[in-house]
Amino acid sequence: MTDSFSVNCPIPVSSSDTIQMAHGGGGRLMNNLIEQVFRKAFDNSMLHEQHDGAVFEMTGRCAMTTDSYVVSPLFFPGGDIGRLAVTGTANDLAMCGAVPRYISAGFILEEGLPMSVLMEVVDSMAKTAAGLNVRVVTGDLKVVENGKADGIYINTCGIGELIVENTIAPSAVKISDVIIISGDIGRHGIAVMSARDELGLENIPDSDCGPLIDPVMALLEEGIRVNCLRDLTRGGLSSALVEIAETSGFTFTINEDSIPISNEVRATCELLGLDPMYVANEGRFIAILNQADAERALQVLGQYEIT
Ligand code: MG
Repeated sequence: MTDSFSVNCPIPVSSSDTIQMAHGGGGRLMNNLIEQVFRKAFDNSMLHEQHDGAVFEMTGRCAMTTDSYVVSPLFFPGGDIGRLAVTGTANDLAMCGAVPRYISAGFILEEGLPMSVLMEVVDSMAKTAAGLNVRVVTGDLKVVENGKADGIYINTCGIGELIVENTIAPSAVKISDVIIISGDIGRHGIAVMSARDELGLENIPDSDCGPLIDPVMALLEEGIRVNCLRDLTRGGLSSALVEIAETSGFTFTINEDSIPISNEVRATCELLGLDPMYVANEGRFIAILNQADAERALQVLGQYEIT
């Protein structure tokens, strides 16, 4: 028996330049992090409520989507995980014919993550959201032990308002519809792969990571009856086509020579033994629509500079 004992506070009280387990512990460190990083970046009246959820008005039909973002490295040519999380969520809503309004952001952070990296990612998310007039209205934060995550994982949910009456979905595809692609394919997947040091590749293309809402809304506002939209993310163009063909029950015929692929992407795919038709994109979509509207749709999409 001893008559002396010591009390160890498990929560460090000082601020830190890396993420610590205590940042997810619900105490002062976590509150400081939320206040100084997240609430500051995503600043809006709903976050100021500090409530368990966001409360807002919606009218008419809405679309809702969810996605989780896991990318290594966190920063790649043409984007980063923060920009990806916002544009990816907004793009999925756009593919439903909806204008993105609100998103949630759940962060899983790895112990030891430099605070500067988190701040850069959150800043990128905030700037991307502001550019799209989308508000991050609620969120969550968890910290996992060092070695149990790739720095940052982000989960989102997005809600948007539909601007068309007709259903835009694989089930709405009609016989003899045409498929229009919005730009060259394969850049995101190749950019991320190239950014991994071990490949040592040269001539790295920029990711196409970017918002699709403007060209989609332009098509719809032009009165073009779009039957189906799909962004060409994981699995690329081929996987998107297979999914839609299976759901719609139609067989699609495509001319591979008419699909734009940059020389950089083509060369890297050849080197790595990849088929660019299956490589991920984060700023490309296909529109499936009536043949009679094809020329007009191409004119509308031609006004948008594809980056
Ligand atoms: Mg999608």
